[in-house]
Amino acid sequence: MSRVYNFSAGPAVLPEEVLQEAADEMLDYRGTGMSVMEMSHRSKAYDTIIKEAEADLRDLMKIPDNYKVLFLQGGASQQFAMIPMNLMKNGVADYIVTGQWAKKAYQEASIYGKANKVASSEDETFSYIPDCSDLPVSEDADYVYICENNTIYGTKFKSLPNTKGKTLVADVSSCFLSEPVDVSKYGVIYGGVQKNIGPAGVVIVIIREDLITEDVFPGTPTMLRYKTHADNGSLYNTPPAYGIYICGKVFKWLKKRGGLEAMKEYNEKKAKILYDFLDESKLFRGTVRKEDRSLMNVPFVTGDADLDTKFVKEAKEAGFENLKGHRSVGGMRASIYNAMPIEGVEKLVGFMRKFEAENA
Ligand SMILES: *Cc1c(COP(=O)(O)O)cnc(C)c1O
Repeated sequence: MSRVYNFSAGPAVLPEEVLQEAADEMLDYRGTGMSVMEMSHRSKAYDTIIKEAEADLRDLMKIPDNYKVLFLQGGASQQFAMIPMNLMKNGVADYIVTGQWAKKAYQEASIYGKANKVASSEDETFSYIPDCSDLPVSEDADYVYICENNTIYGTKFKSLPNTKGKTLVADVSSCFLSEPVDVSKYGVIYGGVQKNIGPAGVVIVIIREDLITEDVFPGTPTMLRYKTHADNGSLYNTPPAYGIYICGKVFKWLKKRGGLEAMKEYNEKKAKILYDFLDESKLFRGTVRKEDRSLMNVPFVTGDADLDTKFVKEAKEAGFENLKGHRSVGGMRASIYNAMPIEGVEKLVGFMRKFEAENA
């Protein structure tokens, strides 16, 4: 067996220990004589799996009691619709557009009501986070929406926007569990898990209870109402059961490693190795304003598209996978999520130094 260093933006690297444990339990989950994949979601064994997953997530994020944790399907993109369908009581919401994912959410919301773009960084290819200290927040806005970490562009909100008292909704897909968060500052925190937590197919929604009501956009399908899932403990229908099981294992892995404070420290140390190199390199440079840099997604370029292609090719041959940047930015992107070991980043930087010397 040989495993590569996988820098994919998502689906992405998972902890090897978790994969190994899942492999060990594949044919016979703890004496049940079956795989979790084959198990009823109403069984005793599965009930323990989903309840423990929720309890561990609550523990990790210190989620207050007046928030529900929902394990849903449809990916983060399904939430682009579910959020306005469920939360736009006045039919108005304000969006801060800092990348493709925020833009998609904004466009989707305008199907269901009046979505206002109150700030954007599109003028400079989303390479920064706009000043959000005094936004023209709409009087009747039902919520203010952000994408907290921009997976494609590699920017991150270092402080939350001033929503002037309005409910904050955040897509945290690519920074989920990478550092501590104060859940009470948000109305909704959600993310697809395939970036930092588990297999694609699960989206986790953490939502304040008072936002879950029956007053939803007319025609909202039962499956797209938060209330349906909140009332049924995420078991209204068959949930993405195996995916939730893997997420649960990752939560336990995070707890064993010291929780989110420890992860933050580790992630900062990891990202610093790469950013410090980019800042001193004569060949490579980061594409994002320094103060807005993400700890999770690090885009960089040489400035020469052919050299970028050569780098990605040679890196792959050396065991560094998925370094090609998103098509809208070009160049390279290293996603260094929780499960990327520090050695992976050290070795990548070593390889970049060598490439720089050879191509000076
Ligand atoms: C990947 C990603 C999405 C889309 O996730 P899907 O699960 O594919 O719908 C949305 N937002 C962010 C920030 C992402 O990184």
